Amino acid sequence: DPRLQAISAAIRVVPHFPKPGIMFNDITTLLLHPKVFKDVVEIFVDRYRDMEISAVAGIEARGFIFGPSIALAIGAKFIPLRKPKKLPGEVFSEAYELEYGTDCLEMHVGAVHPGERVLVIDDLVATGGTLCAAIRLLERAGAEVVECACVVGLPKFKGRCRLNGKPVYILVECR
Ligand code: 5GP
Repeated sequence: DPRLQAISAAIRVVPHFPKPGIMFNDITTLLLHPKVFKDVVEIFVDRYRDMEISAVAGIEARGFIFGPSIALAIGAKFIPLRKPKKLPGEVFSEAYELEYGTDCLEMHVGAVHPGERVLVIDDLVATGGTLCAAIRLLERAGAEVVECACVVGLPKFKGRCRLNGKPVYILVECR
């Protein structure tokens, strides 16, 4: 797909952010190119429009940039999966390991119904810990996770990779 090269090129790599030794893949530069931003959304929409997906779950914060456009285009609802203590209602919580310590994702009880087919969206997959927490959260509510989709992934996630038994689809490799 010729669009993928432009997507990769539009992502800025920032060395030593947010700490020394980390190569941060910054997708905000991609958003400054409307054609490239649109291509990202269209590639996902073309893939998911006929998969009977009724909900797109986006992971805070950068999953909120891509998720809603995809949800609207495929006729699905959008569910924000948030960092702790942001959602006002009753929540499901799932903790996950970080390099140092743990973090947590939360979802409102009632956001998804048992049996609903859900797509999970984030900007980037590194260890996969965040996506695994999202899958556990949705499965606790009885939803069926169809696939996880990210714009960028570590090379080991390229191809037919799975997390918690669920397929992961990525557009371009981290640089
Ligand atoms: P994982 O849980 O797969 O190790 O890390 C993925 C999560 O961390 C995602 O929510 C993603 O937004 C964030 N993340 C980690 N590294 C990067 C990076 O280099 N660039 C961006 N944009 N996000 C990152």
